[in-house]
Amino acid sequence: MTTRVRFAPSPTGYLHIGAARSALFNWLYARQTGGKFLLRIEDTDLQRSTDESTRSIIDGMQWLGLVHDDEIVFQSANADKHRAAANQLIAAGKAYRDFTPKAERNDATVKQGIAERARAHSNEGVDQRGNPFRDLSLAESDQRAAAGEAFAVRLKIPRAGKTHFTDLVYGPQERDYSEIEDLVLLRSDGHPLYNLSVVIDDIEMAITHVIRGQDHLTNTHKQVLLYEALGAPIPQFAHLPLILAPNKGKLSKRKHGEVVSLTTYRDRGFVPAAFRNFLALLGWAPAEGKEILSVDELMQQFSLEHIHRSPAVFNFQENDPRHWTDEKALWMNAEYIRTMPVADLLPLVKAELRAAKLWREEYDDDGREWLAKTLDLIRQRFFTLKDFSEQGRAYFSDDFDFEETAVSKNLRKDPRLKELLPALAAELEKVTDFNAATAEAALRKFAEQADVKAGLLINGSRTMLTGQAVGPSMFEVFEILGRQRSVERLRSGVPWFDALNALGDV
Ligand code: GLU
Repeated sequence: MTTRVRFAPSPTGYLHIGAARSALFNWLYARQTGGKFLLRIEDTDLQRSTDESTRSIIDGMQWLGLVHDDEIVFQSANADKHRAAANQLIAAGKAYRDFTPKAERNDATVKQGIAERARAHSNEGVDQRGNPFRDLSLAESDQRAAAGEAFAVRLKIPRAGKTHFTDLVYGPQERDYSEIEDLVLLRSDGHPLYNLSVVIDDIEMAITHVIRGQDHLTNTHKQVLLYEALGAPIPQFAHLPLILAPNKGKLSKRKHGEVVSLTTYRDRGFVPAAFRNFLALLGWAPAEGKEILSVDELMQQFSLEHIHRSPAVFNFQENDPRHWTDEKALWMNAEYIRTMPVADLLPLVKAELRAAKLWREEYDDDGREWLAKTLDLIRQRFFTLKDFSEQGRAYFSDDFDFEETAVSKNLRKDPRLKELLPALAAELEKVTDFNAATAEAALRKFAEQADVKAGLLINGSRTMLTGQAVGPSMFEVFEILGRQRSVERLRSGVPWFDALNALGDV
């Protein structure tokens, strides 16, 4: 039998990383088994569902490379089928019309009356259901409905017994019927509710495996009852562990804001493959412990049976901009940036430089080789793609900022640099065939002549040329920036030092 799985988000906000992980696991499972990965937008909550949210879900999936098969199913389009199924269940005596008037439905004394009757019945061990309409004859129920009386439709949970299913992650599950309410299938305005819609759609879409968050485990018991009432085959279920905040509380959109939203990662410079790899490890681990996995490796190694039961923790530090998201996510992104083929990195950096207005047409042409070499040099210490346009700005523009700590550590601390750096520039101008090796030789020779440590000139040059205190090998930086820009920047320090002197700052 071909595997058919689905991702069924409700379009009521941005794509939560927990939902993105559900999408990923469904996708991996479908691709691994040669099955189908379907997308169903559960837009039945008309007040809260928006087109914008649907678009952001689709964009997010596209960013992660999770391409769905077949047409998107919009759940709201199936409402008639859901209603028909409810009517079929009434006719079969498996559901009933609840004619409790609307005003009374929320009335505390009426509710209490039902609860008391339920208790009385359960003491007798006969019927735990207190609703007086549960056992109305079908003829009378039909008559009252035909007369225009308003009603909701509820599933009639059998009097005694238990639901059973075996979750592929959490193992055998059971629940006593007495713990499950006669769930509402249709509201009195005819609007079908979640459990009915999901089950009918999953049957219609011939879903074989339902892979979704653990928060749906209690719904699954109700859904199993619905499958049974409908006489439909029950799919396999695999529930995924929750993703918790660092304090082990719920990771919520409301409380944790954009750190929970998938598009944040796109906008803050994550490599899609890196974030996909990271998401795959939220609640699952490959047997061999290797964590950096290509998409092919993920597809081969993924297994529902190895999903963890305990919750995954999303490890970020609130209010710390440097650790704004999970440390491992950042580490993994850095690993991808550092090790991915430059050819794959190029288009990602291009988009970043474009957005920062640092892209030049020549990079697509004569400058392509220089660009590839530059990226390869500077990527070693970067965590996100944003770093290329921020920390790496000096490679793409003469208009860059100086890091305060770099200036005080590498420039202000030794007033001799005011003369030494322009003098170094003069030496570099004399070098024939300017490259990393010749620049290094010239710098070391000059340091010896001037009787200063090479490190003083190297650190001073780094800050003058890039604005930073750390970075790649300085001699490589000279070569990448080229003689002209190197020399100009070493000299540009003169007015700058003067200004510092005037302020009495050196
Ligand atoms: N629409 C539901 C949600 O977003 C998921 C339903 C399901 O996967 O069964 O939580």
